[in-house]
Amino acid sequence: MVLYCAMCPNIATKRCDGCQLSGVNYCSKDCQGKDWPEHKFECKSMSSSHFDTADQLVRAAHRGHMPHDTDTLHEYGFVRATKAGTLHELFDFWVEVIVTLEIPARSLRVWRRNWVLCQEIKLAYANSGRVSTSQAFEWFQANQWIVEQCLPIPRRFEDEQDADVARVCQYTGLPHPRDPNLREIRAALPNSQAICYDLCQGIFCHISIFPPTHLWILFGFGVCKSDSEERTLEEIYKRLFQLHPFEEIWRAYDTGVLGDLIEPLLSAYEPGWGRRRELLYVLEAPRFPGYNWELVWRLKAAVLIEEPYLINQPGHPLRIFYGFGNAESMDDVRELKRLYRRLFRDDNVIPTELHRAAVKWELYRFVDSILGFERREQRLFRRLLRRYDYIFGESDCPPPPAFIAPP
Ligand SMILES: [Zn+2]
Ligand SMILES: [Zn+2]
Repeated sequence: MVLYCAMCPNIATKRCDGCQLSGVNYCSKDCQGKDWPEHKFECKSMSSSHFDTADQLVRAAHRGHMPHDTDTLHEYGFVRATKAGTLHELFDFWVEVIVTLEIPARSLRVWRRNWVLCQEIKLAYANSGRVSTSQAFEWFQANQWIVEQCLPIPRRFEDEQDADVARVCQYTGLPHPRDPNLREIRAALPNSQAICYDLCQGIFCHISIFPPTHLWILFGFGVCKSDSEERTLEEIYKRLFQLHPFEEIWRAYDTGVLGDLIEPLLSAYEPGWGRRRELLYVLEAPRFPGYNWELVWRLKAAVLIEEPYLINQPGHPLRIFYGFGNAESMDDVRELKRLYRRLFRDDNVIPTELHRAAVKWELYRFVDSILGFERREQRLFRRLLRRYDYIFGESDCPPPPAFIAPP
């Protein structure tokens, strides 16, 4: 059986020395190095207590998805960037610093602690010769207060935030967030109206729509393959609120026809967008209550953000349908997460089909037909992806309804 490199299509000849996890095979030292920011979190040679926000940031940059833990968001400027509405520009900047300039976690960690992040990053740019050509560097020069937490926040950003809030009031017709009655008013709204209000506020006030929030799942951000696709989708929703009255939007959402309003915008922004069908499928979901379509997006969120709760909760549908209930050790859980990350990265995998296979107890066959398991993996995943017979108890989450695909 031929083994392939985890990072490229070449044949693998090496395996991580520190552990024996399957799928951790490489063709060369180079590919192993490229996988290390990700693999160090699961490698048995590392103890998980050693990771801090610098490691989280580096892994996020390599994954191409924003970090999700609160400490990293605070320490590396994301919280400040929301004030200026430049969250994505900040992330692009970190990706360039980490992936292109190859600044490792240990440097970032030390520089941040010593308040010399900006100074050292400028030096690194100067040495790389990218100073005059890099858009990210241009952004950084104008926004150093976002990166260096000891610099004061410029006054004008407080005004900018007020303008964003005013826009949300204008589009939704709801009172200003500082209005003492807003909470009550919002609580009395029909559910779909409240959800659409949250989306409008999230988008215009730059409260980024992260996994695993309900907005991320309900409005189809989960179907995006990368952070940049997610931000295009944000732009599309922004346009939606500018073009259509709020009432039309939430009524369309409520009846599962929001896709009809979104589709023409999609064509304008992203012709040939590969995830169109999946997105429209998500937006149709309110028309077909009672089937657990969102489970596959919860799975994606859980593996993207390393959310242990979603996977460890007894009786959780993810444990039942996606094999986590069969895991006998933390290694098994790591193998499953690694497998699902591979699948979500793979362009041949349509998540809705993955889900259909899961609820029909055909996961092993489905995944094998796409990835082609090697012998060691066959044994492992036959065990992990087999049908999990779970007896539902009273204290568990209610059993998920059977999967009914919309016509
Ligand atoms: Zn390789
Ligand atoms: Zn390892």
